Amino acid sequence: MLENTGFTSTFHGLYDILELYSEIDERINRFKMISGIKCIEGCGQCCNTGASSIEATIMEMLPLSLSIWQSGHADKWLENAGVMRGSDRCIFFPGHRLAGQYGCCTAYTLRPVVCRLFAFSTRIDKCGNSKISLCAPIRNSHENLEVRLNQVELAGEYPPVISVYAQRIYSMNPVLSSRLYPINQAFFLALEYCCFRIDYIQASMPDTSMQTGITTGVFSGK
Ligand code: SF4
Repeated sequence: MLENTGFTSTFHGLYDILELYSEIDERINRFKMISGIKCIEGCGQCCNTGASSIEATIMEMLPLSLSIWQSGHADKWLENAGVMRGSDRCIFFPGHRLAGQYGCCTAYTLRPVVCRLFAFSTRIDKCGNSKISLCAPIRNSHENLEVRLNQVELAGEYPPVISVYAQRIYSMNPVLSSRLYPINQAFFLALEYCCFRIDYIQASMPDTSMQTGITTGVFSGK
């Protein structure tokens, strides 16, 4: 997804978080393969809620923000994100159903952790036991759920534990991961941070290449 170049070291933890996104996707894919449990095609119910109830850190929105900066439309996205209210949907949710494997998200490959783990994750209860957590549409649409989850437990292929990944993100860049924001605000702050930082680097080191190397998620102005 991203080459580990000089540019990535400008944004501390950028390479690590993309590696982590790949790791989460691999674990979820193994879980899906063993259990046969998957999202309902074109569902998007998890995104169809006020953005104030979907939270992310600035760090998690960094790859997406850099991708948008690379597209040359950062100003337009900043303008749009800056006027959104808490009851508005996520800025990357078009609000209607799209055909295809990526459901409703227009930023699928670079979406933050909460979006990757909403449907399938593992929670550790008070006694330290692992408990698989599934979203309601998935729970309601799969038969033999208990049998499927038993297969996962037997194989030891639990989906990721959210709190573990939150700690790992914090260790990558504590400054950008110290608090959660509603997703649109986290995106706005991440994009603003990218623009300021790149402006500063370009002013102080004009010969530095500002190719992010992020090859997925090409955006135009909204
Ligand atoms: S980033 Fe994508 S998956 Fe996450 S809430 Fe927005 S539209 Fe949904």
